Amino acid sequence: MSADFAALDAAGLNLQAVLDLADLPPQVVADLRRDFAPAHACRQIILIGNAGRAMWTALRAAGVESDDPIDDFSVRTVMQWFAAQFPGHCCTLLYPGDKPLGLQTLGRLAGWHQPTPFKLGILPQWGSWFGYRAALLTDTDLAPTAPLQMASPCASCAGRPCIAACPAQAMADGEFVLDKCARYRLQPDSRCRTACVARDACPVGREHRYDEEQVRHSYSVSLRAIEQYCRPA
Ligand code: SF4
Ligand code: SF4
Repeated sequence: MSADFAALDAAGLNLQAVLDLADLPPQVVADLRRDFAPAHACRQIILIGNAGRAMWTALRAAGVESDDPIDDFSVRTVMQWFAAQFPGHCCTLLYPGDKPLGLQTLGRLAGWHQPTPFKLGILPQWGSWFGYRAALLTDTDLAPTAPLQMASPCASCAGRPCIAACPAQAMADGEFVLDKCARYRLQPDSRCRTACVARDACPVGREHRYDEEQVRHSYSVSLRAIEQYCRPA
């Protein structure tokens, strides 16, 4: 059994990894079975991400207009791809969705997740300009993807400009302090209401920085979540 990822690549969903459940920590598999209760055989997870600007371009070309265009476009594209590729096979959408999923655990198994000081992942080719877009639990029997094996650019980044650039000094003490970041982002004159200044200061993969509209959209969504979380009871 083999997969052709060309349709996903064309949609900018250009990171893909096939993980065997047998290679996942048993507790992760148990949690998946409990939380998602799939009604089909479960052998693999297909993890799908976007890297660079191509997904937003494809999404705009497809005319997607909704409150959550990235999730809507990703789910539609990935489900259509799965149905076309694997007729007669079944999948359960693990992400995006309402139930918790340890995406970074899966990302680590795929070799995608090497954390930056501001906690996003980083890849040598793409910098921090990539993200998790979908995860499917499947009954497929594909060849698993070898994990990416590459050193983190942060390990050889002498100046670490992202740390000094953060206006909230959220990483100044050697750890990322989420509370400092969130409180700064909520200020009316914050420079981080619709962007992350630290992320923009990283030189790695800068040419792949998302389209300004995508950056604004994604950070507006996270700011709304912070506003809701921090709202007084
Ligand atoms: S600026 Fe340096 S330390 Fe910061 S994310 Fe980029 S590579 Fe890593
Ligand atoms: S969003 Fe702003 S405050 Fe938060 S880590 Fe990025 S630069 Fe710092």
